[in-house]
Amino acid sequence: MLAKVFSSATLGIDAYPVEVEVDISRGLPAFSTVGLPDNAVKESKDRVKSAIKNSGYTFPVKRITVNLAPADIKKEGTLYDLPVAVALLKAEDIIKSEALADYFILGELSLDGSIRPVRGALSIAVCARAAGKKLILPTENRGEAALVEGLEVYGVDNLAGLVEFLNGNKVIEPWKADLRDYFKRDERAQPDLADVKGQEHVKRAIEVAAAGGHNLIMIGPPGSGKTMLSRRLPTVLPDMTLEEAIETTKVHSVAGRLIPGEALVTERPFRSPHHTISDVGLIGGGRIPRPGEVSLAHNGVLFLDELPEFGKSVLEVLRQPLEDGSVNIARASMSITYPAVFMLVGAMNPCPCGFLGDLKKECTCTPAQVQNYRNRITGPLLDRIDIHCEVPAVRFRELTGQKKGETSAEVRERVNAARRVQAARFKGRDKIFSNSQMTSRDIKKFCEIDIESQRLLEMAVERLGFSARAYTRILKVARTISDLEGDPAIRPHHISEAIQYRTLDRAVY
Ligand SMILES: [Zn+2]
Repeated sequence: MLAKVFSSATLGIDAYPVEVEVDISRGLPAFSTVGLPDNAVKESKDRVKSAIKNSGYTFPVKRITVNLAPADIKKEGTLYDLPVAVALLKAEDIIKSEALADYFILGELSLDGSIRPVRGALSIAVCARAAGKKLILPTENRGEAALVEGLEVYGVDNLAGLVEFLNGNKVIEPWKADLRDYFKRDERAQPDLADVKGQEHVKRAIEVAAAGGHNLIMIGPPGSGKTMLSRRLPTVLPDMTLEEAIETTKVHSVAGRLIPGEALVTERPFRSPHHTISDVGLIGGGRIPRPGEVSLAHNGVLFLDELPEFGKSVLEVLRQPLEDGSVNIARASMSITYPAVFMLVGAMNPCPCGFLGDLKKECTCTPAQVQNYRNRITGPLLDRIDIHCEVPAVRFRELTGQKKGETSAEVRERVNAARRVQAARFKGRDKIFSNSQMTSRDIKKFCEIDIESQRLLEMAVERLGFSARAYTRILKVARTISDLEGDPAIRPHHISEAIQYRTLDRAVY
């Protein structure tokens, strides 16, 4: 007897249909799988066998051949347990349904027949709808899959229950998602800008960065609160759109990083890998390819603390995602693309000892040591960072002050308004949403300045020793500052604020 069930495989963050065929014939008892299965698929034999027995069915003592097609798509993971078991039970006529072809089926089986969650359910759900199928998958994955509009989603807990459902002896209602429930914001659980005492100008820099999508680097001694401040950047970024949330969820789902019970990532991610991370960990890849930190930060913030400690190669590999908003991983037989649109926030000490410019502790570094330390951040990377912000140690008076700062929600409102101005500015443009993405032609068009501003800029270049690259960064950031004010023109005070954000372009004194 031959039986066929449809399932799916993910490649990058996209999914493709896979056919699971089971053939049972007389002959010496055997159980073989063909169609490029990896180790997990081979191990699945034991789980399928035990699950079928422990669910109260007889496992056929015959020759069983499982074929996963097409053969040229690499299948990995445990999600074929369930389609293989269903096809086997269909071939044995235990499942009577003639409508199996209407479904995509996926799920990992436990030895006792219960069904466990799998990776990539959202991507597979998108694929199922495109194929015109309904979807049967583990209950824990149903919330994720139900995000796909117009798709019938059935969550199942165990093999016996699924057999009863397919035989028409049990009713399972299709799972419906209410998007409002997904987007309920739990403000209490979030860090908030209002928690941070003092550091007003750093908060301002964060606001400007968020408003224009500018990458940011914070320079300050240990303990000045760089990490704490960076964590609050996602909370002042615009709320995620459904599209952004779905894209980010796909990445986290494929990586197996969704928190149990979480169906949709609705908060912008904040990722802060340690500087000992490997290239693969940061960018993605590996024997079984997985998204890296840059993709887990998709639509959110990638925070690199102690930026100069990251290896040169790691900083080099950041260039592609920073330029293209995606990562390409080349394989012998194929190439995989993961999305990676993120805001980069770096943090560093002002010098190797950490106390340059500190009022209480003396810096022990020579100017050459300081310059060396800063040179570890290479030009191409620095070129991508529009805002440099000094974070001094907080004074005691500020820490004990009674004044409560603005909340993230208040700042976010201004950020949203500035983003609306930019949306109108770049309407109809492909892949340009914010001032930080402006090309040199855009800068000419959108960043006209008057004579007084021109003088200010020239002075900065001459007296502070700014490079030409600083010049265009200043114009972009000044554009954002004026957008925050709702001012159609760039004014001298916008320029002078933007000049302040170029610490690393100044010569070391
Ligand atoms: Zn020092």
